[in-house]
Amino acid sequence: MPTSSDPCAKPELIHPNDALPMLLEQVNAITDTLSLPLENALDHVLAEDVISTVNLPPFDNSAMDGYAFRFADLNSKTDTTSLTLVGEAFAGHPFTGEIPAGACVRIMTGAQIPSALDTVQMQEQTEIQGDKICVTHTRKSGANVRSKGEEVSVGQTVLKAGTLIRAAELGVLATLGQAKVTVFHMLKVAFFSTGDELKPVGTELQPGQIYDSNRYSIRGLLCKTGVEWIDLGIIEDCPNAIKQAFLNASEQADLVLTSGGVSVGDADYVKQVLQDVGKITFWRLAMKPGKPFAMGALPNAIFCGLPGNPVASMVTYYQLVLPLIYKMQGRGELKRHLVSATLVHDIRRKPGRVEYQRAVVSRNKHGALEVSTTGAQGSGMLTSMSSANSFLIVPREQGEMTAGSQVTVELFNHVLS
Ligand code: AMP
Ligand code: MG
Repeated sequence: MPTSSDPCAKPELIHPNDALPMLLEQVNAITDTLSLPLENALDHVLAEDVISTVNLPPFDNSAMDGYAFRFADLNSKTDTTSLTLVGEAFAGHPFTGEIPAGACVRIMTGAQIPSALDTVQMQEQTEIQGDKICVTHTRKSGANVRSKGEEVSVGQTVLKAGTLIRAAELGVLATLGQAKVTVFHMLKVAFFSTGDELKPVGTELQPGQIYDSNRYSIRGLLCKTGVEWIDLGIIEDCPNAIKQAFLNASEQADLVLTSGGVSVGDADYVKQVLQDVGKITFWRLAMKPGKPFAMGALPNAIFCGLPGNPVASMVTYYQLVLPLIYKMQGRGELKRHLVSATLVHDIRRKPGRVEYQRAVVSRNKHGALEVSTTGAQGSGMLTSMSSANSFLIVPREQGEMTAGSQVTVELFNHVLS
């Protein structure tokens, strides 16, 4: 661990599994709430359990276009029964007339089932004979009826506090008739890239310069997680400029992310400035890619310094920053999708760091999961992230791996894509 007097001394590498709890214990979940109209609630986090005041469906209704009748009216000695048509029920227009024994009602999907009836036969299994409808028998009473409360009943908790409101949740809330929802204030995340070599897209590169890609991938990642992001651009490798950027970011955001400048190069000033204006909690992880990762605090914000190498910045974001964001947002623990798969080819490597190889997992012709890496694994080769759907996680002490071994794979498309 770096001491406060020597921020740049090289500490022991920390296993990411040990770093994560250290990181999480530095932060608290947002507690301030606000009430939002449902149409503005997308990407916010629910601050309260949503308890239903209605039944879903709110009334018995037809799951099919067809004919509604009493199951008891079917002739038990035959396969079909002829019923008298007495009316029709459309979605939004219930049938309210009398229904004598042996009668049926033409009914459309979503229309309320008349209270005297209990079963629907789909229209494809009926035949019209004058004012009679001949229905081929269904096997059970209640067929093709969506019963009141079968999905949700009054008083049931439908969505838990801490749920991110996405498309499905918006729809569920609307189904419940919730015009307003109580959510947590959105987490604010500011980010900037550091590096004299970096130029924004749309400008011409001079010798030795490259385009800044990290701000785009980080923005893309943040857009998926329900935070308010603030892009603070590219900051040169100059302690004073970095200091100003830190102080500025710390005023605007709950969490500040940077990329680059956290390694051991002569122009890597991020840790030094962090030590100057805030504190370093830890630095250097036993992970590959992603060794130069720093975590700490600024005067008014939590800080994560991601490595500059583009793959390393995405991998550390996913492994460390995303769980931190979840906790700060009030979403609790990020649950990872880990599966076991058969390795298709050998992997040469030296033990020492947990490795997150970019990989493609798929089903083979026998239906079993198998995995292969995306090829060259350089930490600057961002195309490896683009073609991957998962990380093949190689334990820290693992040496070479042979084809046919069972390995752990973390699926990431649901979060990263
Ligand atoms: P650093 O962590 O600053 O030593 O940078 C490590 C490597 O990542 C160098 O090759 C940098 O040029 C590259 N790099 C740093 N920041 C970015 C960025 N924002 N976009 C693309 N490459 C970067
Ligand atoms: Mg740099």
